[in-house]
Amino acid sequence: MPLQTVNRQWLLARRPEGQVRAGDFKRHDAPIPAADLAAGEILVRNLMFGFDPAQRGWMDDVASYMPPIAIDEPVRGSAVARVVASANPAYPEGAMVRGLFGWQDYAVAARSNEAAPVQIAQGVAPEQALGVFGAASLTAYVGMLDVGRLGAGDCVLVSGAAGAVGSIAVQIARLRGARVIGIAGGPEKCRWLTEDYGADAAIDYRSEDVRSRLGALAPDGINLFFDNVGGSTLEAGISHIARFGRIVLCGAIASYNDAHPAPGPRNLMRLVSQRAEMRGFILLDHLDRIPTAMADLRQWVQSGEVRYRVDIQRSFEAVPQTFLRLFSGASQGKQLLRIDGAE
Ligand code: NAP
Repeated sequence: MPLQTVNRQWLLARRPEGQVRAGDFKRHDAPIPAADLAAGEILVRNLMFGFDPAQRGWMDDVASYMPPIAIDEPVRGSAVARVVASANPAYPEGAMVRGLFGWQDYAVAARSNEAAPVQIAQGVAPEQALGVFGAASLTAYVGMLDVGRLGAGDCVLVSGAAGAVGSIAVQIARLRGARVIGIAGGPEKCRWLTEDYGADAAIDYRSEDVRSRLGALAPDGINLFFDNVGGSTLEAGISHIARFGRIVLCGAIASYNDAHPAPGPRNLMRLVSQRAEMRGFILLDHLDRIPTAMADLRQWVQSGEVRYRVDIQRSFEAVPQTFLRLFSGASQGKQLLRIDGAE
């Protein structure tokens, strides 16, 4: 592999209008940042990218829990990287780190902030650091246990259940003794739910009527609904919520590419009649739970009680197409990309 002389980048070329497209991004070659760093900074070489549906929201010019990605900036996204130069004793040269380093080969990470780089423990592979030991699993953990207050006797519904967050949410519910129903797209992903992740039942939203299947599978109602999808899936869950049930709003991927969000849910009165609650959350507000969550996840993965899937694409040139896989359902587990020429 010839010595790299440029910093390959994927920039946000324009704000997506509705459905995000490969043409919303453009390739750019920038100089590799100089290693004369200010105190506290590190220069990292990205090795693997992790893709998150939330990145789609950061591309819109709307106020959120993170500022919008600027036009002509490298797209903000998580990566595992090696520290190649350091002016910060917390991150020595050669260390492996995870952070929001963006769609580029090299990045200078500033001194500590909310999204400060995290050093990766010895023996943890990049696909684990971005996958089962990454933000998606931590989100499932706090969403299920803290926000959702999962109970052993609960009948639990998880949408987006075969994905990175959903598959861990399903397994945590199962491990805590709940009865779990998962919703996913297609027979293959539904098979993962029941055979690999231990769900009691799976609903294929592409070929089945979710609302009527829920009626058959949960005649006494859903006590806890962990929703990653929104839209008609959320409405179906609300229509079957049990008395004093809890709905945890983790995400709403079905609407992320809507130019004009559809009105709804149309059946909110059901929350009143069922004395049910619905609450959104963001992982960033629960960072104090990470040590406990990580300890549990490590133990569950080591014992084989929690399984996970990663979908590793290759080639820096394929970054936008890989991101689009999240929205077509093509992703087969946590969506990742190994950067060619990085090692
Ligand atoms: P993911 O599930 O690994 O990947 C996306 C999956 O969503 C796709 O594979 C597809 O699976 C499904 N999907 C895509 N479009 C859909 C649609 N229109 N209707 C139904 N399903 C659709 O992604 P993830 O990282 O685990 O994220 C899941 C959700 O959690 C997202 O909404 C994300 O924004 C949210 N999240 C929230 C937080 C937080 O702090 N609140 C943190 C991380 C993630 P199928 O093949 O089954 O359709």
